[in-house]
Amino acid sequence: MVVIGGGLAGLRLAQRLGPAAAVTVLGEETHEPYNRVLLAEVLAGRYAPEVTALPAPGPALRRGVRAVRVDRAERAVHCDDGTVERYDTLVLATGSNAVLPPLRGLFEPEGRELPDGVHAFRTMDDCLALSAAVRPGVRVVVIGGGLLGVSAARALAVRGAQVVLAQQGERLMERQLDAEASALLATHLTDLGVEIHTECRVRGLGTARPAPAACEERGPGRSPGSGAARGHRKVTGVELADGYRLDADLVVLACGVRPRTGLARAAGLEVRKGIVVDDRLRTGDPHIHAIGDCAEHAGQVYGLAGPALDQADTLAAFLTGEPTQYTGTRALTRLTLDTGEGTGGNGPLDLAAFGETTPLPGDDVVRLADATRRTYRKVVLRGDRLVGGVLLGELSTVGALARTWEGEESPRDLFHLLTDDGGH
Ligand SMILES: Cc1cc2nc3c(=O)[nH]c(=O)nc-3n(C[C@H](O)[C@H](O)[C@H](O)COP(=O)(O)OP(=O)(O)OC[C@H]3O[C@@H](n4cnc5c(N)ncnc54)[C@H](O)[C@@H]3O)c2cc1C
Repeated sequence: MVVIGGGLAGLRLAQRLGPAAAVTVLGEETHEPYNRVLLAEVLAGRYAPEVTALPAPGPALRRGVRAVRVDRAERAVHCDDGTVERYDTLVLATGSNAVLPPLRGLFEPEGRELPDGVHAFRTMDDCLALSAAVRPGVRVVVIGGGLLGVSAARALAVRGAQVVLAQQGERLMERQLDAEASALLATHLTDLGVEIHTECRVRGLGTARPAPAACEERGPGRSPGSGAARGHRKVTGVELADGYRLDADLVVLACGVRPRTGLARAAGLEVRKGIVVDDRLRTGDPHIHAIGDCAEHAGQVYGLAGPALDQADTLAAFLTGEPTQYTGTRALTRLTLDTGEGTGGNGPLDLAAFGETTPLPGDDVVRLADATRRTYRKVVLRGDRLVGGVLLGELSTVGALARTWEGEESPRDLFHLLTDDGGH
């Protein structure tokens, strides 16, 4: 078996199948395998990079090797180092890429290199490069106010940066939170010193080239007349759609992710938002499966750790002969925004959101808000079913609520569920 992608899903699958299964995992990243969910804590300086390590995969993982082509007729994977891996079963676990938004000035007409100071936030390399560039007082614009942008803004503020968060939507984390919870989250970030601009579209980047003397130091190996020798572009600010300009030393692109489907598409497999799989996590080719961020099941691409692990576990069970099916994952989003030692703010903020947090007409809503303690709890009910909820600041009941939601049980005593963890 060959697995393409040494991330959360690919390595979990290899681990579940065990050493006897003759699995080879191809992973293009050169780092020890890590859990990217923890990267914001590395950026915040709370965790050393080693803390994010995934369980050691042993010899099954070929690190620093990228798969470049799948030959379905030959059942072979061609790699960038010239090697070829043959398979009986192939699993695509290629994850996703950061979306690079169409900003004026992001790329030069002839190039695909980001200006100095502009970083995505997806990989350990992104995280370490950003971390090395952050100093107290440095001006950072984070583009995107979803889970990634909020985590990055918090981490950078904890490191003493002056952070502006530019969010195109009406509110922060609008996919997960309702207006009230989002407002509390915004207050928390503002207390940490983050300046938040909502309904704010960034349309371009301002860049400048350093004086020639400065660029000589950059690249002794670069030939005169090359772009590098003329001086590498450095970001100086962002231009907003209303014409306003914000100065910036660093820009973080947190504009979402896109499933990595290039190999599957080139091999003629069906790709919509992600690589289309059935209830056995199988593509249209019975020898090829897909799991994790790159896979689309029942019209859904999750982009979350829980479903990636769930899919890996289900596929492992299926491949070892268990009569099992993947029926989807009820994914809960959780985030802890720790303020770090000695920084401003009101202590850590925990939040959790699941299911449908915005009610449809006819739904019932129960809401408990405490402005002084900055806690907010809300659940949405459709008939006698719990269909979603948001908890902020007070998460003691999240386990009991999630179990009720996942089990599709009728909540017996809703008020009790919101105020007490039911003894669990
Ligand atoms: C900063 C950050 C914070 C996050 N926080 C949360 C969170 O709080 N909760 C949550 O649920 N989720 C979170 N996520 C999302 C979560 O990390 C992903 O859903 C999860 O990692 C998906 O696992 P995966 O194995 O599908 O993909 P990945 O973990 O991305 O692994 C895919 C791997 O495949 C490799 N690869 C791709 N193509 C090839 C190729 N051709 N050849 C060889 N290797 C290849 C990639 O380099 C990568 O290492 C976060 C993500 C980020 C970036």
